[in-house]
Amino acid sequence: MFKLKITGRLGSRSAGRWLYPVLAIAWAIVPAPALAICFVSATPAIRELQTLVGKDAARALQQVAVRLQPLESSPQPDAQLLASLYAVQAQAYSILELADDARNAAAKGLKFATLASDPVYLDVLSAYAENVYDQDGIDHAIKSIDGARALQAGGSLADTCLLITRGLLLYRQDRSDLAIASLTQAYHASTTPEFAAARIDAAGALSMAMRSAGDYPQALALNQEVIDRHTQTGATLNLSVDRFLRGKILNLMGQNTSAIEEFTEARKLSVQLGDTQGVAFADLLDCTARIELGQLERAESECNNALRAFTEAHTPDQVKESLALLAGIDLAKGRAAKALDTLNKVLDRDGVDLLPGRVLSLYQLRARAYAALHKYRDAYADLTEYAKRFATANDAERSKAAAALRARFETDREIARNALLQRELALSQEKSQRQARELRWNAIVATLGVLVIALLMYFLMVNRRYRQQLVKLASQDSLTGLPNRRRTAELATAALADATGAQTPLTIAIIDMDHFKIINDRCGHATGDFVLKEFARVGRESLRDADVLGRWGGEEFLLIMPDATLEFALASLERMRTLVFGIHLPASGAGLRVSLSAGLATTSRHGRSLDELVARADSALYVAKNEGRDLVRVADEAHLSTTSIRRALRQ
Ligand code: GH3
Ligand code: MG
Ligand code: MG
Repeated sequence: MFKLKITGRLGSRSAGRWLYPVLAIAWAIVPAPALAICFVSATPAIRELQTLVGKDAARALQQVAVRLQPLESSPQPDAQLLASLYAVQAQAYSILELADDARNAAAKGLKFATLASDPVYLDVLSAYAENVYDQDGIDHAIKSIDGARALQAGGSLADTCLLITRGLLLYRQDRSDLAIASLTQAYHASTTPEFAAARIDAAGALSMAMRSAGDYPQALALNQEVIDRHTQTGATLNLSVDRFLRGKILNLMGQNTSAIEEFTEARKLSVQLGDTQGVAFADLLDCTARIELGQLERAESECNNALRAFTEAHTPDQVKESLALLAGIDLAKGRAAKALDTLNKVLDRDGVDLLPGRVLSLYQLRARAYAALHKYRDAYADLTEYAKRFATANDAERSKAAAALRARFETDREIARNALLQRELALSQEKSQRQARELRWNAIVATLGVLVIALLMYFLMVNRRYRQQLVKLASQDSLTGLPNRRRTAELATAALADATGAQTPLTIAIIDMDHFKIINDRCGHATGDFVLKEFARVGRESLRDADVLGRWGGEEFLLIMPDATLEFALASLERMRTLVFGIHLPASGAGLRVSLSAGLATTSRHGRSLDELVARADSALYVAKNEGRDLVRVADEAHLSTTSIRRALRQ
């Protein structure tokens, strides 16, 4: 809810200033908000009345009166309900510009609501404070509001509502800088839905303070927020005040044609509501705008309408405001004496009942009136007074402008900080997404790498095994698994080299199966193969690890025995001969026995080359065969039968 109040402003910013220098004093009739619905009642019936105040205060007053009557005559009335009703009554009077009645109603309410923590008490206290206009009263009201605030939790709804009342009072003391600080705090505190009413009160009051501090765009934006809200809630009376305020801001911005449109709109709403005070204000404000547009005739008639209405309503400050404007018009029209007469009435008590900014401009206006009447001494006195007050007002103006800038800065900084936080958040989200993506990729790459390495290793392994197999195949006899001839020759050459180097004996033997052809013929080639495999197996069993048995070709084998004496070799071959004898042949081989003949040669006696050694072993084998087979013969030795060797070994 809002209340109209005349307040002074310094210096007009309109084009009219130059066209009509005599009227270049800013007669800023500034409506100011009152704060009634901030403390929204918890009782539905009271809440309904509060809403009605914003729509039609006169009707709200009637309804409150009906409800008060039985309670006031009751011996034990509901104190809480009474206090609430007085609060609504005070608010309704307040918006109807009946400040004395409003204070009286609030005072009654304060008798019933005494609990400092009670929202109804705070509501009545605020309603009282908002209707105080004399400087001492305002000081006292601010103290009681601060006292009440001390008991509230910071940032609570009650605290915020009280903060708005405080801002309004400070503004009324012409301390706009402090007012802006309080109101900005309240405005920022009221962002949640439960604070909606507080938000609108704060926005309205802040708009007023910003306008006073000269930040018109900000004032206009805040006013728009209030208009939107009141349009939404259908608060017609409030809306008419919003329009006045909008017009006033436009007037200060020098957009007087637009301002007049707003005043006309506000006037229409006031007529609808039967609000004669509202109509009078519309006329007064219209007068101001038209003075600045140079439409003096129309301005004069509007101001006279306003003067009549305010006189009838006994509202002295508005009467003075109307008179001051009319004095300005008189002076512009050359009626200096009449203007002076009027101004003397307005400044009757040196303007103690007027706001400082207002008084200042009145002194300047009167100085002009004196000058026009050639009363230069008086004109000089008024101008001196004007200059003195101007310096003070200018300081106040500067601090107001600074406060507005600070409020702007704080709001902007908050917005910038939010934007920064948003940006940082987006950046960190993007960063973590990127990191997650990188991690995913790294994991994929690592997995792929491991797979590739595993695959390579597998291939390498397969390849190695394959090669090993190839090597083995290339060096192994497939039937017996013994080294093949090529490999046997290699191993024999190496063994010979080692033996020569180490000066140890190397003995070799060529072993040949006896009558193998017959075994093949009688028992089949498969049996022949079996016998060869069995020979390889038992042959290896009778040897040391260091000995090598290789397939030399067909049914011939080469035995390499490093560091073995002839006697040791003979013993090994004897064991082999016995084992071979046990190889079992099938029925078809009845009467046949597997036997071998071998020829031995050793390095300890003759020669150095492998070929020579093999040739000597071969010739020894030849001897063995010739001597009847199943024999081991030593090259260059006396012919030894197996039996004789056995005997020799035993000895
Ligand atoms: P000798 O006692 O004089 O050595 O008579 P032998 O029959 O063993 O000698 P010969 O050289 O006349 O015959 C060797 C036979 O061995 C001929 C060949 O068919 C057979 N033979 C050679 N290699 C293999 C083989 O890998 N498997 C089979 N089953 N027989 C083979
Ligand atoms: Mg042979
Ligand atoms: Mg043979």
